Amino acid sequence: MARYTESVCRLCRREGMKLYLKGSRCYTKKCAFERRPTPPGQHGVRRRKLGDYGQQLREKQKVRYIYGIMEEQLQKYMEEAFAHPGVTGAYLMQQLERRLDNVVYRLGFAESRNQARQLVRHGHITVNGKKVSVPSYQVKVGDLIGWKESTKNEDFFKELVQEGIGRRPVPAWLALDTEKMEGRVVRLPEEEDVDTDVESRLIVEYYSR
Ligand code: SF4
Repeated sequence: MARYTESVCRLCRREGMKLYLKGSRCYTKKCAFERRPTPPGQHGVRRRKLGDYGQQLREKQKVRYIYGIMEEQLQKYMEEAFAHPGVTGAYLMQQLERRLDNVVYRLGFAESRNQARQLVRHGHITVNGKKVSVPSYQVKVGDLIGWKESTKNEDFFKELVQEGIGRRPVPAWLALDTEKMEGRVVRLPEEEDVDTDVESRLIVEYYSR
């Protein structure tokens, strides 16, 4: 999975936009991009104008940073998207949205996708009552996303219940039960459900070269 040794805030500054990689900090004045929106590095005062290839490359990198995936995984998603009938970019985004770590984040169970990935990896999350520790697991219509019983005794879970989940709007393709701390996939995500600021067309163009 994508692991960056540099501060993730540098990625926002490099891409010239907020990627919301740090959870609640992203919504405060402490956000590094709000304080210094220039590219990182000593020469990063001005942003260069990009050609077609540069724009496609940056968009591809941006989607990787947002969803926290490695190049190989993105290539795999692209291969599946090219083989799928319909709009390639829309199917790519659907696959990314259907990742279990993204669903945990979308339901408000975690502050960031990175935190959601940790929850899944550490075995705290269940799908239809069974533990699933694979962040890339693709959810299906009808899947019930919940918590392992023993996790419900953990302090962080109690805090989450106390503070209240669902502070971010939950997309229409998911149904959140705040009492039970469960979420259900009611339908597959459509293009209009994806609020991620990504131009999938540019990513498709990058891989079509
Ligand atoms: Fe990006 Fe969040 Fe860091 Fe701001 S705080 S620069 S949005 S990761």
